[in-house]
Amino acid sequence: MQRVAIVGGGPAGLMAAEQLAPVDGLEVAIFDAMPSVGRKFLMAGKGGMNITHAEPLADFVGRYGVRQGEIRTLLEEFGPQQLREWISGLGIATFVGSSGRVFPAEMKAAPLLRAWLHRLRGQGVQFHVRHRWLGWSAAGDLRFATPDGEKVLACDALILALGGGSWVRLGSDGAWLPLLSGRGIPVAPLKPANCGFDVAWSAYFSERYAGQPVKPVTAAAAGQRQQGEFNITAGGIEGGLVYALAAPLRDMLARDGSAMLHLDLAPGRSLARLAGDLARPRGHDSLANHLRRRAGIEGVKAGLLREFLPPGILADPQRLAATIKNFPLPVTAPRPLDEAISTAGGVTFEALDENLMLRDLPGVFCTGEMLDWEAPTGGYLLTACFATGRAAGRGARAWLGRPA
Ligand SMILES: Cc1cc2nc3c(=O)[nH]c(=O)nc-3n(C[C@H](O)[C@H](O)[C@H](O)COP(=O)(O)OP(=O)(O)OC[C@H]3O[C@@H](n4cnc5c(N)ncnc54)[C@H](O)[C@@H]3O)c2cc1C
Repeated sequence: MQRVAIVGGGPAGLMAAEQLAPVDGLEVAIFDAMPSVGRKFLMAGKGGMNITHAEPLADFVGRYGVRQGEIRTLLEEFGPQQLREWISGLGIATFVGSSGRVFPAEMKAAPLLRAWLHRLRGQGVQFHVRHRWLGWSAAGDLRFATPDGEKVLACDALILALGGGSWVRLGSDGAWLPLLSGRGIPVAPLKPANCGFDVAWSAYFSERYAGQPVKPVTAAAAGQRQQGEFNITAGGIEGGLVYALAAPLRDMLARDGSAMLHLDLAPGRSLARLAGDLARPRGHDSLANHLRRRAGIEGVKAGLLREFLPPGILADPQRLAATIKNFPLPVTAPRPLDEAISTAGGVTFEALDENLMLRDLPGVFCTGEMLDWEAPTGGYLLTACFATGRAAGRGARAWLGRPA
């Protein structure tokens, strides 16, 4: 009997398990630190689980930025379409929502996870929860902290699917990083991805506008530009549009110590039209009324102008129009890693072979968010976790001399 240990019962680890079971003479066991598996997956389902995206594969692959080369190969094997077929095989329909985003029916993760775990158990996969992996013993076996004390376990192949370092309360805490780097495995530092940012609002602005959406708006950073919306928080900004530009903003802050998000607060009007509208006589109108009536700028958008612009610009229609079309919002820091939707950094692809096996630790595979790739929200995170999980599972199978 050969034994495969999979540590981490998120989507990547579960998908790896599915590639290995049922195979005669192969014992497949999933270990997870938490009292149940798939907690982050379930959380992802709370806001309407966006599991993948229906755009053409070439566009899809482009979302992985500098890592698109490595991820493309995996997605060609198991991409968005195959993922939808796989979900359908669990008896869950998917549908394409607005802007091509794909959701499971009911937009929830729980029915899918329930059906999936049922199938895995039926295939003989064993689950050991409350088993926190602590690294290797001197003899090279796996060490686990369990409610019954420390356990040591030997295995023939190990798949690490430990997740990133955000939302620690759901299980993935990044504590694996020193365990791997201590064995000489190249690991890029974990960084927040799809995260909010701090902005030094005045107390007045923060109290007045926290919780309000800024929409519609176009935002740009480092040559990337996107329309959408985001939210004001007590100490900064968060939401889809900010997450989409979080990687360049984060990297700019790390490199230069400062960064600007450039906003077009009037995306429906050309600069010339806006300048003309604002140049019309104001009469007895207050500035607030003039902005609202002539430019459709009110509420939080007007608040942003008052918060940052000196009176000289507010009084000059040409300069005001130019600033509304290209409003520089200074962000001071990314929000902490634990608050981020996902994590950048992790085990570098250079450390792995094409089957996601660590070159320096033969028989040890890595998968999911703990690998050094990042992508925006929109289903790209889960799709890559499934694809890498499948690759690692198949890799382990081949390593054990049991090719699919
Ligand atoms: C609020 C929120 C919403 C999201 N929404 C979406 C979405 O709509 N679409 C999308 O594509 N993505 C979304 N994501 C991201 C997505 O959920 C993750 O990218 C995905 O779950 C990562 O899968 P994974 O298997 O790599 O790791 P995880 O799901 O994090 O699983 C890792 C597992 O490893 C276990 N573990 C960690 N360390 C140890 C240890 N030492 N010993 C034992 N077990 C350990 C953890 O307990 C955990 O169960 C969302 C994330 C969040 C936080």
